[in-house]
Amino acid sequence: MVTVNEREYDAIVVGGGPSGSTVGALLAEKGRNVLIIEKSRFPRYHVGESLMPFCYFTFDRLGVVEELNERAYTQKHSVQFVTSDGVMSAPFYFFQHLDHPAATTWQVKRSEFDELLLNNARKKGAEVLEETQVVDFLYESDKVVGVIAEDAAGERSEYRASITVDASGRDCAFQSKRRWRKRDPKLNKIAIWTYFKGAKRDPDLDEGATTVAYLEDRGWFWNIPMQDDIVSSGIVAERDYLYKDTRDPEAIFKREIENNTWIKEHLSCGQQFGQYWVTGEYSYRSEHCADDGIVLVGDAFAFLDPVFSSGVFLALKSGEMAADAIDSALDAGDVSASRFATYGEDLCQAIEVMRSLVYAFYDNEFSFGKLIRNHPDLRGILTDCLIGDLVNKDYGPLMKAIGEITELPEPLAHGRVAAPSQA
Ligand SMILES: Cc1cc2nc3c(=O)[nH]c(=O)nc-3n(C[C@H](O)[C@H](O)[C@H](O)COP(=O)(O)OP(=O)(O)OC[C@H]3O[C@@H](n4cnc5c(N)ncnc54)[C@H](O)[C@@H]3O)c2cc1C
Repeated sequence: MVTVNEREYDAIVVGGGPSGSTVGALLAEKGRNVLIIEKSRFPRYHVGESLMPFCYFTFDRLGVVEELNERAYTQKHSVQFVTSDGVMSAPFYFFQHLDHPAATTWQVKRSEFDELLLNNARKKGAEVLEETQVVDFLYESDKVVGVIAEDAAGERSEYRASITVDASGRDCAFQSKRRWRKRDPKLNKIAIWTYFKGAKRDPDLDEGATTVAYLEDRGWFWNIPMQDDIVSSGIVAERDYLYKDTRDPEAIFKREIENNTWIKEHLSCGQQFGQYWVTGEYSYRSEHCADDGIVLVGDAFAFLDPVFSSGVFLALKSGEMAADAIDSALDAGDVSASRFATYGEDLCQAIEVMRSLVYAFYDNEFSFGKLIRNHPDLRGILTDCLIGDLVNKDYGPLMKAIGEITELPEPLAHGRVAAPSQA
């Protein structure tokens, strides 16, 4: 039996991660009635701890900068790249390029960080239902008009709204129902990760740096120093390579530590704890970013290989962009897919810049050092990209220069709004 909830919301948001709580908070702040439906109870574990500097501007709009500053999160001033035999490139210090508080960002414990953002949405007036999972979408003449959700006791209810936002992360609630998920043709990797206590930290400003350490011809390690002397460490590489002699994640992880001198040196004095996590973290993008009555944000729309830590930034930014587009659509009394055309175009363009950089990263012919030696004048614009200044910016000259060293991918044609229905 399904209980019908009589209240009609302006917006229902599926998922209370960074993208969902951003849309929820900003719409609630604009006086909209918002319901966020989240399947877990927060705080809940989540991977993805390293932030990009440009997250700051969404935090500022959300009003959470002060609260974030008060937390004991590790400060991240830079990102650095290390070869398999331990040679480190000069770190990209964000403050050398950006004279703004945003130049210092954080390595966050996601359970606490996501809870902070969800509570912020609550404070701004959004209603939040936790331990409640959206299991289906409601339609009227092909337009999405709400959801069916199941609570912890297994009771199902219908919730209706003028607009529904899918922010369900890699569960991709709406993409899965509509079979809209399209994998990136080349970025088909898996990730294995775990946590260490007491691992070696670099001194001074580099203490909180994200390190990307290469596994020659194969993939890379991330090293993210966090609060409480904890380090998040993971490998991303091709499935066939990682599973070549065993499928035991712990054995694979230990084997690969031996393949990077810097990682070995940094992790060997630490104590591994907790489980080894595994995900087929292949990149994907939805066929469409919106249909009549529904918009997709964050990982529920697209996921890109995490080598440049762009996930949380894109989740926050897409949440912000969607909230603005939804607010205007509600004002106009028109929530058809076409209202979100600019949203889709701008978001796809931003993702495409990052995607080109990810493709270049996986080509052995390419290195940032080579790019900057060829074009010293492009160091600034490259740093813009690495800090997340991605929306509505001309990256043509940078892409042209990268294209001289490596073959850039064709931009994906999909990800825009669905065509008007024939009803
Ligand atoms: C291995 C790996 C490493 C990564 N490293 C980084 C990194 O260093 N830096 C970075 O910025 N990003 C990283 N990312 C990406 C980052 O984690 C995501 O991009 C980010 O969490 C996306 O936020 P979101 O709000 O879209 O989704 P999520 O944070 O996944 O939130 C979605 C929420 O929806 C809820 N939900 C799901 N289905 C339903 C449903 N049916 N009903 C109700 N609720 C539902 C979930 O419980 C969850 O709370 C990494 C990702 C992976 C896989």
